[in-house]
Amino acid sequence: MKLIKDITKIKKFESLISNKKHVLIVSHFNPDGDAVGSVVGLYYYLRDLNIDVNIILPSTFPQNVSFLDIKEGIIIYEKDIDKSKEIINKTDLLFCLDCYSLSRTGAMSDLLLNLDCSKIIIDHHLYPSENEFDLVISNIKASSACELLFYLLMDTEKVNSDVMNINIKGALALAVGLLTDTNNFSNSTTELTYNMASLLTKRGVDLMRLNETLFKSNPIRKLKLMGEMLSAQLVIMEEEQAAYMILTKEIKEKFGFMPGDAEGFVNLPLTLEKVRISAFFTESDDYVRVSLRCKSGISVNDLSKKYFNGGGHAKAAGGRLDMKIEQVPKYFEKSLKEFLKEKQD
Ligand code: 5GP
Ligand code: MN
Repeated sequence: MKLIKDITKIKKFESLISNKKHVLIVSHFNPDGDAVGSVVGLYYYLRDLNIDVNIILPSTFPQNVSFLDIKEGIIIYEKDIDKSKEIINKTDLLFCLDCYSLSRTGAMSDLLLNLDCSKIIIDHHLYPSENEFDLVISNIKASSACELLFYLLMDTEKVNSDVMNINIKGALALAVGLLTDTNNFSNSTTELTYNMASLLTKRGVDLMRLNETLFKSNPIRKLKLMGEMLSAQLVIMEEEQAAYMILTKEIKEKFGFMPGDAEGFVNLPLTLEKVRISAFFTESDDYVRVSLRCKSGISVNDLSKKYFNGGGHAKAAGGRLDMKIEQVPKYFEKSLKEFLKEKQD
């Protein structure tokens, strides 16, 4: 099995990066471990080729991956608009990673869409916006953008199929996306996922230690919030074999909520035998963030596209709702019932 079957794409990647002066790497709004891991993994590959490279992310990234930050610092568009614009304007090659369209890069999306330079996407979501890019490297069979990028780099002349030629810091970053997007090897894995884990271990990445950093370094407030959500907020829809939880601003305040504190909570109801779909709603000042997960046989990507203004993968998707938090339970229950009925018909 190979993720990139067309060798001309690897050659095109190599030719597009040669003689570029200012490369910019971006990823999606609300970047997760795979977004940060992939941009940093690619950063080290390019930097080692003496290419001037910057990373701009639309919004802040989770605290538990802050150890990946680069020497010059990953720029956060929301916090540093002037510097971001300066960098964007001189860019002659743009990479969009773990992000199926430049429209998912938040407030900088118009600038990037209008930017007149070569553009490359490396992604593993459904339906990438092919017309936005000069080179599309995308495969939904990849567990993570990090996995796809890893195999791309392995096939380049520089790495020459020898993992020892991959920068060790870059290898660690790629491991982060592999572990976080598969939820510690519990979904979306293939033989290539485990092969990559094996090769990264050979390279010197300590996956067990990384596992502790990513999944076993929670602050106490997160565990307490989890307790509250499970005991007081969990709603089970027995007939639909579904469950949902709502994190309101009030609860956030009570538990001193920080970004990332509810990461992974959406997966918890799926540990129940009789739950096949799980939804998690987070209230913020402007909108309600939606997170959806499911077991085999259902596509929450379809559910999200139809009812929650979003998308993602078959088993993990996200979106947003522009309504009052009090309206969410009724809307979710009605939408899900309709969705399941349609599937049945
Ligand atoms: P999460 O629930 O972890 O925020 O997102 C799960 C998956 O859905 C991720 O792969 C993410 O890229 C995708 N996703 C999250 N939010 C959105 C959204 O608003 N639109 C689309 N198209 N995908 C999303
Ligand atoms: Mn991803």
